[in-house]
Amino acid sequence: MNIQLEEAVKQIKLWGKGKEFIPLHEPVFYGNEKKYVLDCIESGWVSSVGKYVDLLEDKLAEYTGIKYAVAVVNGTSALHIALKLAGVKRDEEVLIPSLTFIATANAVRYCDATPHFVDVEEQTLGLDPIALRSHLQEIVTQENGTSINKKTGRIIRAIVPMHTFGHPVDMDELLKVAEEFNLKVVEDAAESLGSFYKGKHTGTFGSLAAVSFNGNKAITTGGGGAILTNNEEYSRLAKHLTTTAKIPHRWEYNHDEVGFNYRMPNINAALGCAQLEQLPIFLEQKKSLTKKYELLFSNIDGISLFLEPQNAGSNYWLQTIKIDQSVYLRDELLLFLNNNGIMSRPIWTPLHELNPYQHCPSADLPITNKLKNILINIPSSPYLGVE
Ligand SMILES: *Cc1c(COP(=O)(O)O)cnc(C)c1O
Repeated sequence: MNIQLEEAVKQIKLWGKGKEFIPLHEPVFYGNEKKYVLDCIESGWVSSVGKYVDLLEDKLAEYTGIKYAVAVVNGTSALHIALKLAGVKRDEEVLIPSLTFIATANAVRYCDATPHFVDVEEQTLGLDPIALRSHLQEIVTQENGTSINKKTGRIIRAIVPMHTFGHPVDMDELLKVAEEFNLKVVEDAAESLGSFYKGKHTGTFGSLAAVSFNGNKAITTGGGGAILTNNEEYSRLAKHLTTTAKIPHRWEYNHDEVGFNYRMPNINAALGCAQLEQLPIFLEQKKSLTKKYELLFSNIDGISLFLEPQNAGSNYWLQTIKIDQSVYLRDELLLFLNNNGIMSRPIWTPLHELNPYQHCPSADLPITNKLKNILINIPSSPYLGVE
């Protein structure tokens, strides 16, 4: 490539303390992980009930400042149930970014509804409230307070803002648009545990939100997720629906609807409790990594580090660089970095280009189509930030 980049690779390798290959995001277990998991095994309560599930839910609610958290098997199922509780039904539409992980759209499809793509902002990488408003003004007719897509005749029920790579989206403006068009807001906060918008934790603005504890996220339970809500009825229904809609009874098996087996096992929650204790340390190390990268890339022409938007305290879940295409070609850079042991990958292929979603309704997506060619995620594990 060039000497600047070769030096950068050497630097990052040094931060990785001699690792030959630096992964994108590795889980780290500095704290009580083994202790709690062992305790869970010794208690015999490894499955879908136990003290760690309750503890994780309580601690998560406390940390995020939400009233209720319901732990589930993964972030996708959390989003599925959150959308269902928000009232998303068959043949309705749900506004989502095209620039997101496929789970956002899949959760909409699991409700037999259709994703409707809208564009993102360059400053936040999340939904653009201005583009959203003008799109809705063009395509929506309101009937009895419900927004109908004039082109498809379908109800537009909800909007799913997603906090890309942990960077909070412009929630205040999005909430205004959602109110104008009577849309339910369900936040996809899968990537943004530890991220705050105007001092308030992401995932606490909408009616409901989903977080993820997958192995590559800010903290992990192996696999897992949670539904967040301030609404008591939603939280009760979330627990009910994710527990096969079983009516609690000491011995009878009665179920009052088709529910889901989505409850998080206690052994995963045990891991999660220890990880949540570590979150402040992870966040500190990730911030310090951001500073190191910022300095590193300030000396490299044609590459800049993506920094958190205004009003945001980002968890910097995945570090992201933006490339100037007159200097670097995305795929050449990816090849160079990956060949030299620096795992890196482009931002997701926008969902409107993917086979299952290419025929969905969509606004114009100029920023999405631009960003897909210039954003690259680079190694982001907390330990890389340790001085
Ligand atoms: C990770 C992720 C999910 C889904 O979480 P899982 O726990 O992997 O099911 C949903 N949306 C986004 C944006 C994600 O990054």
